[in-house]
Amino acid sequence: MKLLVTGGAGFIGSAVVRLAIARGHEVVNVDCLTYAACLDNVSSVADSAAYRFEQMDIRDGAALAAVFKRHQPDAVLHLAAESHVDRSIDGPETFLTTNILGTFNVLEAARTQGCTVLHVSTDEVFGSLGATGLFTETSPYDPRSPYSASKAASDHLARAWHTTYDLPVIVTNCSNNYGPYQFPEKLIPTVILNALAGRPIPVYGTGANVRDWLHVEDHADALLCVLETGQIGQSYNIGGENEVANIDLVRMICGQLDDLHPSDAPYGDLITFVEDRPGHDMRYAIDPTRIRDDLGWRPSVQITQGVRQTVQWYLDHRSWWEALLERDGVGVRLGRGTTR
Ligand code: NAD
Repeated sequence: MKLLVTGGAGFIGSAVVRLAIARGHEVVNVDCLTYAACLDNVSSVADSAAYRFEQMDIRDGAALAAVFKRHQPDAVLHLAAESHVDRSIDGPETFLTTNILGTFNVLEAARTQGCTVLHVSTDEVFGSLGATGLFTETSPYDPRSPYSASKAASDHLARAWHTTYDLPVIVTNCSNNYGPYQFPEKLIPTVILNALAGRPIPVYGTGANVRDWLHVEDHADALLCVLETGQIGQSYNIGGENEVANIDLVRMICGQLDDLHPSDAPYGDLITFVEDRPGHDMRYAIDPTRIRDDLGWRPSVQITQGVRQTVQWYLDHRSWWEALLERDGVGVRLGRGTTR
């Protein structure tokens, strides 16, 4: 297929681009290259005849429509978004314009060209769980941060375009991703990079918040599976079957660093509890029954093994992440809700 991937220079989008090319698809990567983007993420496929890059802001509807017209994709995997919850607390506006208006533009361009849309979203649209329970595809929407509210709005648009205009749309809602090429501001890279620098490792609140972790290459595989075999008009929840409390994850990473890159003192000594994020969701967990039973898809990477590979990847790719440390806001505590 000829696939148009939005956000293909980001963390998950680049994994989708690499996998799609490896599986024999043609890919047009549409990305405006925000602070979170890195073209090195797709350098392994950049010379492929099957790869094209279009630097473009999805908020520019006319320019996006022209790209769709020029390339005539069979399907779009829509991942471009502002994705960091803490940044959404400090500056929500770009989350609304990119995540909502940008999605509107993607849907309209796809409608004009008659191509299928796989809209990639998050489990955060469902809000926060207590100690038990799982998010299913029919869980009520209850977004609690500017980020998740903007993603929820985009999900509603995607479904409405299917119902109203008969646009072939599938929506996926996925749990937290981790793996190679994740931007340094997210939890797992933050822990690794602070530990390597001998700096305090910040843990929000008590660290009791629970997330369901999925390896990014499993997510990319799931998205291609949904695109190829999923039912149009359907939603699929994608999870890693790996629920872990943040503090346990941080201790796991420190223990693996002790093993792979020993220091004078255990890295766990650097763990520092800091003021919690406002409105911090307590627990997310995915019920993956639909994607497992209907499409036969299951995650392949178990968290201990995946985190170890990820720690090793950051140890082996210092030049990749060192270049990103200079970018705006990296290494600074964001998301206290005190700036405007
Ligand atoms: P990311 O921040 O690493 O990458 C986002 C990419 O989108 C960047 O390359 C950026 O340049 C591009 N982009 C942003 N605004 C744009 C615009 N206006 N026009 C064109 N390109 C633009 O994000 P990610 O973690 O790879 O997430 C990708 C998608 O997956 C997002 O839609 C996110 O909501 C969703 N998601 C992420 C996770 C996760 O754990 N990271 C989990 C579930 C769903």
